[in-house]
Amino acid sequence: MLYYIKTGDDMIKEKTKGLLIVVSGPSGAGKDTICNRVVNDISNIKMSISMTSREPRGEEVNGKDYYFVSKEEFEESIRKDELLEYAIVHNNQYYGTPKAKIEDDLNKGISVILNIDIQGALKIKERIPEALFIFIVPPSMEVLKERLIARNTESKDKILERFKTAYKEINEYKKYNYIVVNDKLNIAVDKVEAIIKAEKCRVDRIEDIYLNNKEEFIHEGLIDKKFDNEDMKI
Ligand code: ADP
Ligand code: 5GP
Repeated sequence: MLYYIKTGDDMIKEKTKGLLIVVSGPSGAGKDTICNRVVNDISNIKMSISMTSREPRGEEVNGKDYYFVSKEEFEESIRKDELLEYAIVHNNQYYGTPKAKIEDDLNKGISVILNIDIQGALKIKERIPEALFIFIVPPSMEVLKERLIARNTESKDKILERFKTAYKEINEYKKYNYIVVNDKLNIAVDKVEAIIKAEKCRVDRIEDIYLNNKEEFIHEGLIDKKFDNEDMKI
């Protein structure tokens, strides 16, 4: 007896579009540190590079950490509708997410992480409600203060400004889907990675499930044969 069965077809077809992941939390909570680890650990995922009118600091590189532009150039991008969202952060500088690259990556099935402030996150929520929203917090404000001082990238005034913003921002955590406390770094990274992996398994991200009912009888026949200890020809 000769059986013809089609084998190896994937039963479930995931949506091919990448996942848009929004990460926010007070400055110094550890967003950059965590996101860099996630991008290293998980394949097909990258950070979006924001545009900002603030000056580069320390070792920051144009086109890698941010696209550093003048206020006029930033306003030109707003006029041309080139940004998915933008906000004035810490009271005086523009920060925004360039649109074209993200759309391109998502369409190629690459997931993209946006490390953006809460104002920007809320705008993304309006435009792309199916995005994943993760809020990172420090274990305490005391630890946040210590991390900001130890990072040594801002003056005392700038740290105070970020600290003030932090008190306002932390109250907004309920607008996000998940909250992760960044106490031990490894644990926080594991949690963020678990959230992303779980999100990719959500039923509403599955495009289709293929089950050929006729196949069931063929498989039954094959199982019978196996137990009858006969040779199977496929
Ligand atoms: P954010 O991007 O949220 O502003 P960073 O990732 O720059 O924060 O982290 C702020 C500082 O805290 C950095 O110096 C970083 O090395 C440090 N840091 C981040 N996570 C932890 C952690 N879990 N434990 C100790 N230090 C941390
Ligand atoms: P920093 O100046 O420390 O690099 O960033 C300051 C804040 O700007 C951080 O809270 C960061 O999340 C936010 N930010 C960075 N890029 C963007 C962006 O493209 N859009 C918005 N809305 N916020 C951003």
